[in-house]
Amino acid sequence: MAMIGRRNFGSEEPSIEDISTIDTPDKLLEYAHKNNIETSPLDVYGLAKVLGITVRDNIFEEDKKGLSGVLYKESKTDNWIILVNQHHHPNRRRYTIAHELGHWCLHQHQKSLFEDEIFFRGGQPEKPEWQANDFASEILMPENDFLEKIGNGITRVEDLAIEFQVSTIALRIRAKKLGMRGHGL
Ligand SMILES: [Zn+2]
Repeated sequence: MAMIGRRNFGSEEPSIEDISTIDTPDKLLEYAHKNNIETSPLDVYGLAKVLGITVRDNIFEEDKKGLSGVLYKESKTDNWIILVNQHHHPNRRRYTIAHELGHWCLHQHQKSLFEDEIFFRGGQPEKPEWQANDFASEILMPENDFLEKIGNGITRVEDLAIEFQVSTIALRIRAKKLGMRGHGL
């Protein structure tokens, strides 16, 4: 089970020594793989930890239920921190962390504070937000993993969502992006 969908990274690929060069989902997954972080389903907590990012998920007051997560650089230590709303379902928290990891990889040189509310609202989100959403989807549900699971007969939305430990809405959005049809996708 743990081996299903695990990426097969060729030994000819350059190794990532400097984490500041991680700017794509593939590079982040490669880094996870090399650091023995489970990638199927992705251990987002373990991955944040090896990147030196602290995840705290017990700080949101009741009145902050609309906030999904925050990524910020602590000024006195220069450490990056991810705050996750503990009132949310574990799968949603996983997505939040993945989204913040997307901001960390793609946008950390542009800002040092990211505050996120609802991810899948209607309308056209701003570019950094859809970029972070796409990044999150791609690390939580890599294309080859997705196709492999379907090839193995796991085709129901609910079952795939359980496999990837994501919400069914996140699963459907990813399936659509991958051009999937049928199976209730
Ligand atoms: Zn965001």
